[in-house]
Amino acid sequence: MRNVYFYVFILFHAAGFIWEQILSYLNRTRMNPRMPKEAEGIYDPAEYAKQQEYQKENDRFATFSESLSFLLGITILWFGGLGGLDALLRKYTDSPVALALMFFWTISALIWVLQIPFSWYDTFVIEQKFGFNTTTPWTFAADLVKGLFLNLLLVGLIVSAIVSAYTWTGRWFWLLAWGAIALLGLILTFFFSEWIVPLFNKQTPLEEGELRSAIEAFAEKASFPIRNIYVIDGSKRSTKSNAYFTGFGKKKRIVLYDTLIGDLSAEEIVAVLAHEIGHCKMKHAIYGIVLSLATIGFILGAMSLFLEIPEFSQALGGTSPSFHLGLCGFSILYGPLFTILDLVKNRIYRGQEYAADGFAASHGLGGALISALKKISSKSLVNLTPHPLVIFWSCSHPTLLQRMAQQRVNKTP
Ligand SMILES: [Zn+2]
Repeated sequence: MRNVYFYVFILFHAAGFIWEQILSYLNRTRMNPRMPKEAEGIYDPAEYAKQQEYQKENDRFATFSESLSFLLGITILWFGGLGGLDALLRKYTDSPVALALMFFWTISALIWVLQIPFSWYDTFVIEQKFGFNTTTPWTFAADLVKGLFLNLLLVGLIVSAIVSAYTWTGRWFWLLAWGAIALLGLILTFFFSEWIVPLFNKQTPLEEGELRSAIEAFAEKASFPIRNIYVIDGSKRSTKSNAYFTGFGKKKRIVLYDTLIGDLSAEEIVAVLAHEIGHCKMKHAIYGIVLSLATIGFILGAMSLFLEIPEFSQALGGTSPSFHLGLCGFSILYGPLFTILDLVKNRIYRGQEYAADGFAASHGLGGALISALKKISSKSLVNLTPHPLVIFWSCSHPTLLQRMAQQRVNKTP
């Protein structure tokens, strides 16, 4: 039924799409066929031209896929597709938990199928063309299947937690659901390296040698004892490189991509880890967890106020009020709210990045860190000059040029 919420949903869906296009347009205005002065020392002119080409191709592809997904969303809303799916599934079960599970599993599976050609094009056409892709079709297919099962498992756990809590406690379900989701998140973070990573990658302890001794010597100096240093086979999928910290307490580990070891000197790798150790020392991960928990609690709390509006289900084409249609309606409405929360989070994260860079600099590794970041950025053809509004709106990291400027400030007392 086309009530006022129907038009509100259409409006919100369209506004999200238009805003995305504005941001990507602003980014395009910052592209420049002539290499800007600041890029000197990071790119040579030929590499810079390649970077612009890469950016253009990614941008075109993103606009194409965003437009298709916008049109698909509008079509589903217009014809009451979600309500239709609900009515269809009601023929098979009366249980609210089973109904919600079947509903969200069907949607997840459909999204999964629709994404396959896009993911294929990105990997085997764009990434391939620019020399990044090392994924074999076999790895690609295996990733897809494993990703689907992992997704269905997580969706299953979260949806059954929320819907069961709702059937038991009614209006206050969100407090119980919040607890359950927080617990699931903590368990997954704690066992991430043991349960999730091995599904996709091989991790081996970093062998004894110059690099390991350099890392351990630095960790000792920074009074940050760590023995869990692992190398992951990132080269199985891409030539791009990375390094990260995971887990907490005894499970804490440093993970280096094998591609990083090939690209950087030992001192540069130590500088990258000094940055990561800086995050740990300043307890940034804990802020991150608290922020995520607060966001989830806020969203669930807001959701509880909207779920019992029967017009939501009707606007989505449902014949009887249902919990999961209410949830879908709410998720369309919270989009803008979510972006604003993200904006605040990104602002905090960018501050933490500067602080972690400062930590590396305070150990005399500022220069090595910048040289490492230059190599990583140029090798991955990173955009040096996104539009300031795009950085403000959606970047969790400052740009390389901003981090270089900050290092110069760090150096001058
Ligand atoms: Zn960082």
